[in-house]
Amino acid sequence: MTYIAAEDRYESMPYRRLGTSGLKLPAISLGLWHNFGDDFSIQNQREILRHAFDRGVTHFDLANNYGPPYGSTETNFGRIFADDFRPYRNELVISSKAGWDMWPGPYGFGGSRKYLLSSLDDSLQRMGLDYVDIFYHHRPDPDTPIEETMAALDQAVRSGKALYAGISSYSATLTLQAQKIARDLGTPLVIHQPSYSVLNRWIEDGEPNVLQACEQAGMGIIAFSPLAQGMLTSKYLDGVPENSRAAQGKSLDADLLSDENIAHLRALNDIAGQRGQSLAQMAIAWALRDQGGLSVTSVLLGASSVKQLDDNLGALDNLDFTDDELSRIDEHGGVEGVNLWQGATDS
Ligand code: NAP
Repeated sequence: MTYIAAEDRYESMPYRRLGTSGLKLPAISLGLWHNFGDDFSIQNQREILRHAFDRGVTHFDLANNYGPPYGSTETNFGRIFADDFRPYRNELVISSKAGWDMWPGPYGFGGSRKYLLSSLDDSLQRMGLDYVDIFYHHRPDPDTPIEETMAALDQAVRSGKALYAGISSYSATLTLQAQKIARDLGTPLVIHQPSYSVLNRWIEDGEPNVLQACEQAGMGIIAFSPLAQGMLTSKYLDGVPENSRAAQGKSLDADLLSDENIAHLRALNDIAGQRGQSLAQMAIAWALRDQGGLSVTSVLLGASSVKQLDDNLGALDNLDFTDDELSRIDEHGGVEGVNLWQGATDS
């Protein structure tokens, strides 16, 4: 049936400015890393995307290698976009990335101009788009001069194939270096996409840390995996359900669901309950909190059903924390092994 977006879609979602740029993102954005490949029904994908947009989620995040198989998420999204979202193109922020492995051989991985620009062309073709709103370098590449990577992002923007440029999993130091080069080229980076959650707090570490570096660079932050891939939800509190990411041996290692970690998750769940929230809602509100004038702009979460998405959007009903709540949450935060992307940041 023809999709007509809900008329009240802009009534409850806050939109927050990305750094010093003119672009605003919804406080909650939707990522298509899992659940949008060929292993997941296209009807479910369509329902989740429609529902997200109906609730004011104007930003969908993809990457060249999302699937499985690699590329299939962009192809599936392209199909749904053509059927449902083409009339709403100007109301959407669609992003893609290149940096992790995509095709075999020396040109399908890293940060070279060769890889980034050919991959962007492929992504646009798969999605049936003329341009993406944001094109990211997906991970730092120590084997490519950062000047070359930034020049490729600059060209992506100048060619009109991307409106804005971003980086993902870059350290604070590398973020500042990258921004200086990009700014000199005339295409400032507007966004950093790091992992961040109650269980994974690396962007708060160091001097400057990633939050401070982005503030200094005038960049916004979109925090990915704010639910630690589902650990920060009620999903795993009483075992590992079938069809979950952990049960399917996908990117969430079931070893992380140790008795010790589950005890922390249960304690966090109790704090959430006292706030009148689900654990997922509290985890999302926590990631969006004000940190003495610093904050992430948007959280980038995943969902395998409309029900999960609705639960998560409920976070917006209570974004405030008392100092006591924050210190009780701190007692159960930071779990070794949750940040799968640390190696790329440190490379
Ligand atoms: P996440 O929000 O931490 O985890 C999403 C998963 O948690 C869902 O797939 C679902 O697991 C479970 N879940 C979500 N809401 C739930 C609820 N209310 N109740 C119970 N379970 C719930 O985020 P993520 O999927 O790991 O990552 C989000 C996005 O970040 C990705 O799609 C991608 O766009 C981006 N990302 C970027 C990078 C990068 O390197 N830049 C890396 C990773 C992710 P089940 O599927 O098991 O139901």
